[in-house]
Amino acid sequence: MSDYFINEKDFGDFLKRLVRARNVLGPKAKRGHFVFGRIENPEDLRLDYDVTILPPKKAFFPTCQDLVRFDGDQVSGCIDPVDQVLFGVHFYDVKAIDMTDLLFAERGEDRNYTANRQAATIVASSIQSVSPRAFWGSVGKEVEPKGHDAFLTKVARGYVYQSRTPKGSALLELGKFRKAEATELEAARKADEAVKKKCPETLKYGAAEVAKKVRAAFPDEKLWERLSERCFSCGSCNLVCPTCYCFDVQDHWNVDQRSGARTRYWDACLTSEFSKVSLGAGNSENFRESRGERFRHRILRKASYLNEKLGGPACVGCGRCAAACTADIADPVKTIREVMEAAS
Ligand code: SF4
Ligand code: SF4
Repeated sequence: MSDYFINEKDFGDFLKRLVRARNVLGPKAKRGHFVFGRIENPEDLRLDYDVTILPPKKAFFPTCQDLVRFDGDQVSGCIDPVDQVLFGVHFYDVKAIDMTDLLFAERGEDRNYTANRQAATIVASSIQSVSPRAFWGSVGKEVEPKGHDAFLTKVARGYVYQSRTPKGSALLELGKFRKAEATELEAARKADEAVKKKCPETLKYGAAEVAKKVRAAFPDEKLWERLSERCFSCGSCNLVCPTCYCFDVQDHWNVDQRSGARTRYWDACLTSEFSKVSLGAGNSENFRESRGERFRHRILRKASYLNEKLGGPACVGCGRCAAACTADIADPVKTIREVMEAAS
């Protein structure tokens, strides 16, 4: 909507007023890493973070969430959206949120997600530190970040604040902002472009080529078994991923045996139980029984299956999966390179 500037000195006062006025979630340090958490003291906000352990999607899609509560034959919803400001979201996580918005809205809107999402304000921020496994500079370049309400970029002597929606503009009254000058906007543009070249890992193939070749490699079972032979099926690569959205649903009964709740939990397609289904009469079948099948499924979801729907890959290059994998085999850059080389 419009572009503003706030100087370094006034930025601290803006944050103080912001955390007093609103529920703010932002990056903060935790045991040598960073997490998205409630910011009560502006000094805890670490806009110089590289990446958080879990993505900010947990603000709309918590790890554990009651969907409905029941008491006898009475069922009530649990939708109770919280007004919150996600402050300091990097552009790759904005892209991931935008993808998740689309996936939860299609084929019957998931109100438990969208109600939280619509109540939130997202202030994206420029990347000041680059994580060691990041490759967001080279993946999904055709997908623009959108869905955020404002974008904050650190420049000399302050911050450029680019408001995109009325929710983004509503925060301006909390600080001493003035209209940004052309030189400040140019400095912000240059800073945001320059950081994209600093990723330690690079995917050197285009999305369309990757989507085609990775899909064509589906029948090569030996390749997928080899790529996954050190996999522990722990599911960590799924659980840290900002674009994974699978969940399991369980009913919990209270001791009265008539009331309880239906709750969803994040799930992970790399775990061996994920694809086990009941056939009735105590029988079951696992339709992705081997590690290779599960590993292949994840890579095809990220690199190929969802491309048409999302306009590009369902991987935003955050590198969280690579960092979380004990066996160090989950990195999409390395896997896609091996698949592409096997195909050529
Ligand atoms: S994090 Fe690594 S070891 Fe664990 S399921 Fe994923 S690929 Fe396998
Ligand atoms: S697949 Fe890995 S790098 Fe890609 S978005 Fe998910 S966690 Fe990030």
